[in-house]
Amino acid sequence: MRWKGRRISSNVEDRRGGGGVRAGGISIIGLVVAFVAWKFFGVDPQQAYQATQQVTASQQSNATAPESLTAEQKEASDFVGTVLADTEDVWTPIFKQLGKSYTPPKLVLFSGIAQSGCGTAQSAMGPFYCPADQKVYIDTEFFKDMRQQMGISGEQNQTELSREDQAGDFAQAYVVAHEVGHHVQTLLGISSQVQQARAQVSQREGNQLSVRQELQADCLAGIWASHNQQRTQFLEQGDIEEAMDAAQKIGDDYLQKRSTGQVVPDSFTHGSSEQRMHWFQVGLKTGDINQCDTFNNPV
Ligand SMILES: [Zn+2]
Repeated sequence: MRWKGRRISSNVEDRRGGGGVRAGGISIIGLVVAFVAWKFFGVDPQQAYQATQQVTASQQSNATAPESLTAEQKEASDFVGTVLADTEDVWTPIFKQLGKSYTPPKLVLFSGIAQSGCGTAQSAMGPFYCPADQKVYIDTEFFKDMRQQMGISGEQNQTELSREDQAGDFAQAYVVAHEVGHHVQTLLGISSQVQQARAQVSQREGNQLSVRQELQADCLAGIWASHNQQRTQFLEQGDIEEAMDAAQKIGDDYLQKRSTGQVVPDSFTHGSSEQRMHWFQVGLKTGDINQCDTFNNPV
């Protein structure tokens, strides 16, 4: 995937580096406070810990730019910022055509732990979108996991390994585009419709709706890839296969195995790998948002 030299979005909120170190220190203090509360006041330690985290997180919310990022971390933020800018440049004209205006989401890069409008974000959760604050949350360690633990490295793609680009980069871009897809669903009112509908149906039917919502986010990621290809010719041989590999591996199983019972907004089942690939391809091949009606079509 070609990405260097394009615009970098100003909507990346980097809470790593200095901020991350502070968060680490505070979470240990939080644990101590929680233990004391449990021991002496009979407060559930988990509740106490979450309460201290909320307080410390709000104190940190105005954290300044991180001071001590490694070259690798800086590269990761440039990459994510470029992909985010690409989504802005693709979705803004599409929304205009729909007679709407596109408000881009913020993207929070964090390390270890971060407070979101949807609860405490932990790197173990994987990337997610929080509709309450309209922000995408990503721990760039997750990208490392994608390469090292999940084996999404673009290794089937020899041409990519021969370049200086990071292996597996398009799979990472696809993850960002999928989360931005949830933002698009929120702006278009689809997410709130799904939420309302879920309240009125059985859990099984509700899960079905969630699957359709996830598959639509995959289709929207495909729409992004299609339009971005027209703008920038950014795709290289093997990139699509790389994203499909990621779609297959990053599912519910992965997120749930790694989550520790905290709020996991994006943990609903994402559909089978076949379904995910199909809907990404629909978006990629048509570039037409009207084709992404996963709710009224067999999935
Ligand atoms: Zn999702």
